Amino acid sequence: MHNRAFEVCGLNYRYLAFVVEKAHLKSAIDGIRALNIKGVNVTMPHKESVIPLLDELSKEARIIGAVNTINNKEGRLTGHNTDAEGFIRSLKEEGFDPAGKTAIILGTGGAAKAVAVALAQAGAKSIVAIGRSVEKSQVITDRITIISRDILVKSLTFEGNLADIFQIGDLIVNATPVGMAESGGLLPVPLELIEKKHFVYDLIYTPQETVLIKGARHKGAGAANGIGMLVHQAALAFEIWTGISAPAEEMRRALIHGLESGDRPYNAQKKD
Ligand code: NAP
Repeated sequence: MHNRAFEVCGLNYRYLAFVVEKAHLKSAIDGIRALNIKGVNVTMPHKESVIPLLDELSKEARIIGAVNTINNKEGRLTGHNTDAEGFIRSLKEEGFDPAGKTAIILGTGGAAKAVAVALAQAGAKSIVAIGRSVEKSQVITDRITIISRDILVKSLTFEGNLADIFQIGDLIVNATPVGMAESGGLLPVPLELIEKKHFVYDLIYTPQETVLIKGARHKGAGAANGIGMLVHQAALAFEIWTGISAPAEEMRRALIHGLESGDRPYNAQKKD
């Protein structure tokens, strides 16, 4: 996506992937300054642990507690989180405006935190966090209350009785990796909980149609995969680094071409 964007915009930049071991994170961050690298993206497992190594944080990154983009301005490193705004841009592009709606978020990791903060900022009426423990779900709802005390929040576990909650939900967001090709095409929650009135947003983009998305569409519900979020978080990062507007549609085409030709994220390749 980024190399296509640099080409389209005539920028002499290159986007490269590096696998950084936990023990080398500080050296890698110092390397950004030493090598005068304009910016980087940060992915799992460093999105949170990178924070103390940076000079400042954007407001979003501070509230979410995770950084996915670093900008280097004359050796001063600022951490941003473009996952949150990337998610909202994609959701609205799909025709779903979360203002005044009830959202149910599955998962309590970095992506779930970004989604929760984004939905709170976009005016959701109530947000339910579902995790593998109530303590983890509460970490999500605590972040929402930093933004507004008027948003109704609830913390649940996957083992709880979810039927009543799904009945009042408008938006269901899967922010767990359950459903990824690697996880064998499982479902994060039983399909019986999904109704026609729901809009299901699955953050997963490999496969492009998860079992959850397929099942939701079969029931007549609206559904989207994580490609739009991935494109928009990248476009926002591009804009932070270059100061110019990102060619988002070119980036989307490059991403889909890469996914369909079997390219996989570098970190996923390493696990093989
Ligand atoms: P993460 O920080 O590792 O969080 C994963 C979350 O899923 C945790 O809450 C984890 O629970 C939960 N989980 C894992 N396995 C589970 C299972 N079998 N049943 C129930 N819950 C389970 O990962 P992340 O960065 O948030 O990413 C989550 C997903 O979003 C991944 O599929 C990732 O590819 C996707 N993502 C997409 C985009 C995009 O742009 N489309 C951006 C970011 C992430 P525990 O904490 O209990 O382990």
